[in-house]
Amino acid sequence: MEEGLISVDRWSEPSQAYFLSHLHTDHTKGLSRRWKRGPLFCSSITAKLLPTRFPGFNLSLLRVLEIGTPHSVSLVSPKSGLEITVQVVAIDANHCPGAVMYLFHGEFGSMLYTGDFRWETTSDRTQIAKAMLLNALGDDKLGMLYLDNTYCNPWFSFPPREVVAQQVVDLIASHPDHDIVIGINTLGKEDLLLHISRALKTKIWVWPERLQTMHILSYGDIFTTNTSITRVRAVPRESLTIDNLKALNTVRPTIGIMPSGLPWVRPANEKDASHGASHSNRHKRKMTIGGSSVDSSKVGESPSSPLMLNHHVYSVPYSDHSCFTEIREFIEFIRPSYIKGIVSSSTWYINPFHYFGNLCGAHKQMEESSKNIRSDLAENVEIIQTESSVGHDKFDEVKISTKVVRQAARKSRVSVVRRERKGVRITHMDDSSRTDFDV
Ligand SMILES: [Zn+2]
Repeated sequence: MEEGLISVDRWSEPSQAYFLSHLHTDHTKGLSRRWKRGPLFCSSITAKLLPTRFPGFNLSLLRVLEIGTPHSVSLVSPKSGLEITVQVVAIDANHCPGAVMYLFHGEFGSMLYTGDFRWETTSDRTQIAKAMLLNALGDDKLGMLYLDNTYCNPWFSFPPREVVAQQVVDLIASHPDHDIVIGINTLGKEDLLLHISRALKTKIWVWPERLQTMHILSYGDIFTTNTSITRVRAVPRESLTIDNLKALNTVRPTIGIMPSGLPWVRPANEKDASHGASHSNRHKRKMTIGGSSVDSSKVGESPSSPLMLNHHVYSVPYSDHSCFTEIREFIEFIRPSYIKGIVSSSTWYINPFHYFGNLCGAHKQMEESSKNIRSDLAENVEIIQTESSVGHDKFDEVKISTKVVRQAARKSRVSVVRRERKGVRITHMDDSSRTDFDV
């Protein structure tokens, strides 16, 4: 596509039409209440929520797209000055409320931007999205796929959210005398909370701004800001730290639950049994807490069930992003010519082409273009957690380093780059201190 026509989740460059996939901060960097560069296309739910994120935003800029309905956008070619038409379809991304993928079609062919997405093939929503994609593509072959590659590594494996939600219910039910605090962001994980509320017939406490969001999403009657009527509280994930839980336990017995696709590791000094943690020798790992090394057999691998991290804290593998097998199923279904990962922070980038190039029509060309990647192989993974705290702010301290698969690297000029940068670090997708994006 010609430059200067369309921007997706990019807000600082001049463009004729802007598309917002969802409201997590790593997709709104550069967007502000005073932003007015051009028309902003989004889903109806995102349009409803946007003024709460950006009070005073000029709402006349918003263009709401109905899910599954093709929409034509008239643009002018910066080069030729001729009018061109781009057709776009928004499709449910099954990520957080309002999140959509965008399928564009025009003279350039077809391209799909997934934004953040979860592709649970067992879910009705995914089946509907699948039918919409097929319908929108028609006889066309997808050219470029811009993919949510957050967990694009075989190491990331977790069950469907429905399964994990029930595990959380069981975990809460097995602590009948405890208060429960669950770490969430400003958007996302609503279905988990709804499942808990229905199964345990309880309201859930949220902080006032989150209650406002719940009202906009029409879930208001399930949530409350009154602490005296429920023992289950959803709190900002950065506040769910071991120190805070220790303090809470001086008042009432309390456990913390952290829903995340990121695998958590168990502190070395904890003698408690991990619950359902699976261990594998498939990956060589090392863990340090407070500077001391830990036996790798004590490290939980991308757990498929709740994992006790500490006497007070459990990690549950509930994620709004696709895990590796789901990404593969998606690519097998959509069969693009090219793939490009959209999660490419300066220090962490896993190139989806490494794993799925063989499924792409134009894999030879991609192989050429992949020579500039920084790091893409993580067959061997080392996890290093430098502190035992589990608050969101400590995510920065969870590092994954990759070791290059020598046979593959030998054939590639990028091996030099990889050797130079084989240590990669998981960082937030942006530098924002806000925490309303999912992991
Ligand atoms: Zn997101």
